[in-house]
Amino acid sequence: MKKQRTLSIIKPDAMTSKNSGNIISFIEEKNFNIVAQKKIMLTKKQAEEFYNIHKDRPFFGELVDFMISGPISVQVLEAENAVTYYREIMGSTNPEEAEQNTIRKLFGKNIQCNAVHGSDSLENAVKEIKFFFSELELIN
Ligand code: ADP
Ligand code: MG
Repeated sequence: MKKQRTLSIIKPDAMTSKNSGNIISFIEEKNFNIVAQKKIMLTKKQAEEFYNIHKDRPFFGELVDFMISGPISVQVLEAENAVTYYREIMGSTNPEEAEQNTIRKLFGKNIQCNAVHGSDSLENAVKEIKFFFSELELIN
C-alpha cells in the first residue's frame, strides 16, 4: 500500500513546555517517517488563513492569538493511513477526553492548548502540506 502524508504542528504550548522532543520521539516510536520539519513563527495573517475553516467559531480569535504566541514546529509525517493514524495517536481535541497514551493526553493542557495539530482529511493534508512546505523541502 502506498504511504500517505499528513501535516503535523507542535503548538506553542508544547514548544514552551519543552515537550517538542518528547512529542517527536512519540511520533517516531509510532513508526512515522518524518519527511520534513521546521520551526517557525506564524504571522497573524498566516494563522488566520490556516484556520480559515474556523473563522465563524467563537474561539477563532483566541485560537489565532494562541497560535502566534510563540514558535511552532511543523512536520510532514508519512505512514500507511497517516491522516487517520495520526489523529488516532493525537487523541481527542480536549485532552481531558483523550484516551490514555495519546499525545494530547500526555502533553495537552486544555481544549485550546492541546499540544498538536493534525490534518483531518487527505484533501486537507495535501492543502496544509502545501501551505507550509515547498516541493524542494519534501525530500523522498
Ligand atoms: P482538532 O484540532 O482536534 O481538529 P478543531 O479542528 O475542532 O480540533 O479545532 C481546531 C483547534 O481549535 C483545536 O485543536 C484547539 O486548539 C482549538 N479549539 C477547538 N475547540 C475549542 C474550544 N471550544 N475553545 C477553545 N479552543 C478550541
Ligand atoms: Mg481540525
